[in-house]
Amino acid sequence: MEKWLLTYPEDGLVQKAYAFAEDAHKGMTRDSGEPFITHPLAVAKLIHEWRLDEASVVSALLHDVVEDSEYSLKTIEKQFGEEVAHIVNGLTKLKEFKYGENPDSENIRKLVLSFSKDLRVILVKLADRLHNMQTLKFKSASKQKEIAWETIEIYAPIAYRLGMQKLSGELDDLAFPYLYPDEYAWLMDAVKEKYEERESYAKKLKPLLHDMLKDSHIVPISVDSRAKRYYSLYRKLLRNDMELEKIYDLVALRIIVHSVEECYAVLGTIHKHWAPLSGRFKDYIAVPKPNGYRSLHTTVSTPDAKITEIQIRTQEMHEEAEFGIAAHWAYEQIKDSKSKKETWGGVKNRKELLWVEQLRNWQKSFANQKDFLDSLKVDFFKERIFVVTPKNDVIDLPAGATPIDFAYHIHSEIGNQCVGARVNGKIVPIDYELHSGDLVEIMTQKGKKPSEDWLRFVKSSMAKKYLRSFTREKDRKIKKATHPQHVEFKIVNLDRPGYLKDVTSVFADLKINIEFLNSQTDPRFTYSIVTVRCPSVSQEKLQKVLVKIKSISGTNEVSFKYIR
Ligand code: MN
Repeated sequence: MEKWLLTYPEDGLVQKAYAFAEDAHKGMTRDSGEPFITHPLAVAKLIHEWRLDEASVVSALLHDVVEDSEYSLKTIEKQFGEEVAHIVNGLTKLKEFKYGENPDSENIRKLVLSFSKDLRVILVKLADRLHNMQTLKFKSASKQKEIAWETIEIYAPIAYRLGMQKLSGELDDLAFPYLYPDEYAWLMDAVKEKYEERESYAKKLKPLLHDMLKDSHIVPISVDSRAKRYYSLYRKLLRNDMELEKIYDLVALRIIVHSVEECYAVLGTIHKHWAPLSGRFKDYIAVPKPNGYRSLHTTVSTPDAKITEIQIRTQEMHEEAEFGIAAHWAYEQIKDSKSKKETWGGVKNRKELLWVEQLRNWQKSFANQKDFLDSLKVDFFKERIFVVTPKNDVIDLPAGATPIDFAYHIHSEIGNQCVGARVNGKIVPIDYELHSGDLVEIMTQKGKKPSEDWLRFVKSSMAKKYLRSFTREKDRKIKKATHPQHVEFKIVNLDRPGYLKDVTSVFADLKINIEFLNSQTDPRFTYSIVTVRCPSVSQEKLQKVLVKIKSISGTNEVSFKYIR
């Protein structure tokens, strides 16, 4: 048994889960040829190293059991409790999800997050992904591309949002060569020498820095150089005309000190000796990045006319920068280990609220940026759900949405003709409340009309809009059907030259179109009858017509009737 496993009690859940998983995966191998258990074990070890709680470690050990063995979620719940079963269920759901033909990365990120109401689901998933990426070389070429795409598009950005910069960078760099082999090869070729040159230069600066700080009576915890990650460098080069010379943080120096005061003291000392480049100083301590990142960054001119970026932070900031939310949660857990259960428990606890709160804050701060982070426009857990079409496209709907909302989201005609729905293969009522991850199929019938009643339960503005416009259209048609369309005047007159012209000018003056005009002389009388038909007019206009016609000389009698 691995050493880290032995740090957990022999009769505890972790060791029990290990034995359970080993048995469940017995005889199975990975593509590398190793026994399958090496995978959940590696994932659980990462979770252990991130200092997450016991339920997370147990869930990591069991995360592939439901999919790969005859053991059901029920068994896991019986043996390991509701909490573990809940996390394993979230992980299984994530695995079952397959992307559509035109995957929308942002919606998939949202879907993944919405599955992860419990933060531990996503943390175990990220550890799982990291280990899968580390062993990706054993997969087929097409699988490699698919998994690398998911990693760079979905999981690395999620890790970044959670402040887990180290993990996010690792995932990117593992996926980079599989996804963009030519670009990767070019970059390696282009930067190799530059990196080495900058690394050895950074080494030369370190003793100078130490001396400088000593004069200011500061003893740093460490002064290290850190090389920029490849994929992040590649992205930066794309924004900078592929000119390596413009990248000042290819190799940056990182100074870690004991307190915030020392951070600023170090900054002052450095600026006294090495001139800062204007516009390059960033105080992420006063104004942290939306993902929680705190540090001071400055770019200074260093000896031999070089330019170097220096990052200054405390140990705590450093750990948070590397491990993000995981570090934060681990701290919290240590701080109040007495109330451990409560802090990791259900959705309503403080940590969950913090996590939701944090997402909300990011959403605010990124509202104006065009990069992937501008996506968090929704309040995940309270107001939005993410459901899946039979083609595996992810549809974003308001919480409480029904199959009717879903149908109108797909197409207005699908909404109008909706007669029923299947959710996860089962027929449901059309006012059924959908949940994140539901697979929704709509049944339609040609010529079917929507029901006004639907307005009572639909949630999306799109469905409401269509239903209202349909209702209005219907009202209009009813009106059309019951209201007379035309009015016909019969005018008995003494026929005289110019009489007909006088009649038509009455209508012209009142801007009424004449649809039909006829003049007939009854041979038995000296009278003639003029018939005028026009579109139905208001009572007011009708009166005017009558008065004006009566006033024409020669008019004997006017009558009218409505016709359809
Ligand atoms: Mn796995």
